[in-house]
Amino acid sequence: TVNRKPEIQAARLKLPVCGEEQVIMEAIRNNTVVIICGETGSGKTTQVPQFLYEAGWSHPESDNSGLIGVTQPRRVATVSMAKRVGEELNLSEQEVSYQIRYDATVSNNTRIKFMTDGVLLRELSEDLLLTKYSTLIIDEAHERNLNTDILIGVVSRVLKLRADLSREDRQRIKPLRVVIMSATLRVSDFTENKALFPTPPPVINVNARQFPVNIHFNRRTPDDHVGEAFKKVSKIHERLPHGGILIFLTGQNEITQLCKRLRKKYPALPQKSSNSAKIEEKLANELESKSTKAEAGKEDLEDEDVELGENQIDEDFDLESDSDDDSDLGFDEDELDDVKDAPLHVLPLYSMLPTEAQLRVFQPPPEGTRLCVVATNVAETSVTIPGIRYVVDGGKSKERRYDIDTGVQSFQVDWTSKAAANQRAGRAGRTGPGHCYRLFSSAVFDHDFAQFSKPEIERMPIEGVVLNMKAMNIDNVINFPFPTPPPKENLFKAEKLLGYLGAVNSTTKRITEFGDTMSMFPITPRFSKMLITGQQHDCLPYVIAIVSALSVGDPFIQDYHLDETQPGESANEEDDDDDDLAEQELGNLKKQSVFDKQRRKLTRKKYYQSQVKHAGLDPKSDILKFLNVVGAYEYSGATTKFCDENFLRPKAMEDIRKLRRQLTNMVASNFPHINICVDPQMKPPSKLQLKLLRQVITAGLIDCVAMRQDVLDTDGGKGLSFKNANNVPYKLMWSDEVAYIHPSSILYGQSPPPVLIYSELFKGGRNWLKGVTAVEPK
Ligand code: ADP
Ligand code: MG
Repeated sequence: TVNRKPEIQAARLKLPVCGEEQVIMEAIRNNTVVIICGETGSGKTTQVPQFLYEAGWSHPESDNSGLIGVTQPRRVATVSMAKRVGEELNLSEQEVSYQIRYDATVSNNTRIKFMTDGVLLRELSEDLLLTKYSTLIIDEAHERNLNTDILIGVVSRVLKLRADLSREDRQRIKPLRVVIMSATLRVSDFTENKALFPTPPPVINVNARQFPVNIHFNRRTPDDHVGEAFKKVSKIHERLPHGGILIFLTGQNEITQLCKRLRKKYPALPQKSSNSAKIEEKLANELESKSTKAEAGKEDLEDEDVELGENQIDEDFDLESDSDDDSDLGFDEDELDDVKDAPLHVLPLYSMLPTEAQLRVFQPPPEGTRLCVVATNVAETSVTIPGIRYVVDGGKSKERRYDIDTGVQSFQVDWTSKAAANQRAGRAGRTGPGHCYRLFSSAVFDHDFAQFSKPEIERMPIEGVVLNMKAMNIDNVINFPFPTPPPKENLFKAEKLLGYLGAVNSTTKRITEFGDTMSMFPITPRFSKMLITGQQHDCLPYVIAIVSALSVGDPFIQDYHLDETQPGESANEEDDDDDDLAEQELGNLKKQSVFDKQRRKLTRKKYYQSQVKHAGLDPKSDILKFLNVVGAYEYSGATTKFCDENFLRPKAMEDIRKLRRQLTNMVASNFPHINICVDPQMKPPSKLQLKLLRQVITAGLIDCVAMRQDVLDTDGGKGLSFKNANNVPYKLMWSDEVAYIHPSSILYGQSPPPVLIYSELFKGGRNWLKGVTAVEPK
């Protein structure tokens, strides 16, 4: 008894998924897990929940009275899809509801519930059997988000449990059905993974009619893809026949910028529009400008939310002076309209946009205007915007990235994959033939784009993954059925490290309260540990600066001109003769080789001087040297000049600066009792604070300890005496390897400490210890 509006009924019958309703429902009845693959826009998200609803699932009096749950990786899609399905079924928000972290419409009458996969994972920790649900639809599985992957792993176990229990007592416990939906055919990680699903689940392919899309590459790849997008949209709008334009950019700042420029050039309303239309437009714009407050904590990492830095808007952009006219728009001259000055209905779409503003992209544009949506990759597969004929693809996306070696997590803008670019192009061919303009050259596409994006789990340091899972009360990570399992040995190591850090209980393997707090921060667990332990005596601002620097990595230009000689040699040279060569004297040197050698020496000297200067706080720690330099950089106004003068990498310093701000904001919102901000005039730490900082550093790097070989050999005795660390071997605790203090360390030129902790271990012909801090005897 569904009562749909006639126009809705007509529209949905055109969706390819509706042609497969019988096949899909039959498969769901006969299998516990079913996989549905179908092109974006074929109707999976909006229709499959309705099939289940119409077949009686979730009906209070039926045999399957539990909710129909639908998970989404993104908030935007969660809310907009719930609204759309409610509208199509003619049901209220209480009946077709959504739940995202801080907002929900769920009620006792809820029948279909849309939620982010993060929300369901949290529910799982309270109700492992998911007894509320009769069916679970896991959507956008092709995205391979960590949460989605983990969810699929957990649910494969829940299925089995529910099946077993229901065989015992069918009245009380009903079996669970799971539908996994993907926009691509790449589902072998789910179907061929026996640990996950012992019987391969059936795959239903929905053959969506996809119209041809002409792809046009730029001849050259511009530096400024936002400016280039502006030019391209202008040309499309002025010269090409009607049809919506969809532009892919990387984040909120870029999107707002482009929307502003386009609106200025093509005002949204025709000259003679009514007053009421003007008021409406004004209200709509106000709606958009309300910015949704970024929530601190895990959810911040959901997608493109974290915006750092503000870009300049170039208002005087001159389209006509475009000499590099690559825009053969791919149309015959006589096909072209001239709609110059026609209104353009410009709408942004990104996840921090208020819901009402997001939903405007689905409404038909005002009469006589052209729809133009500027979106993040949320429009790639999660939401389908009607009437798009032209896609303009900047080719990039903002992605959560981890550097596996250093544990750095950052949001980076980089090229997407070929698969993603093709998805984007496909958005132009839903309703008729279309065109996709790629703002990069075909050479860049061929050489710089990966075939597919890697699953998120392969881009994360494993201890971060494990801590996240423990935070969801998944204790046995070793045998967890990951769709793409990490090596077991790495899982073991990660679990052990989390034990050392106090994040999990070493015997029960369960997360501690401390670990729970640690899991909130977007940095590797050992650095979160420092953050949380560093709260006494106003140390936190220092700890944040340290953690930011360690997360990004040593900001000093590595081995400045040291690489030309063996690290071992260089210090010896430094020792023997010490003739001071002034720079102008160098010019007089005839022999090139001598010249080069002397120049290297001079640079090296300056480099060391800079190191020594910054280590002033505590000459026995590279990490405190980082602290000093981060403070000095901020004090100098964060200039490139400062970087040049101090042998620093400007990009690294900029990244450290951003992370420092982000972490400070997160601490401020998660620990309301702490009053904290980034102080550009941060005073150097006091003696007491320095002592505490060393303890904090040790707490985070608890497993990164090395002891001098000769001290070990004499059972902790004094050992030998050395002038500097050149060729002095250290033994790593927890492994039997030998390593040496790297020449770039401030400790290299000093008498080497018996025990030290390191933040980075570089493996090579010789293992090098970097980011070193001497452990002082008590
Ligand atoms: P899929 O999940 O297979 O990508 P969807 O179910 O999201 O497909 O979309 C099916 C159709 O429903 C698309 O044509 C899309 O434009 C339309 N649609 C989705 N949400 C809305 C909405 N809020 N308003 C109008 N149309 C919508
Ligand atoms: Mg969908």
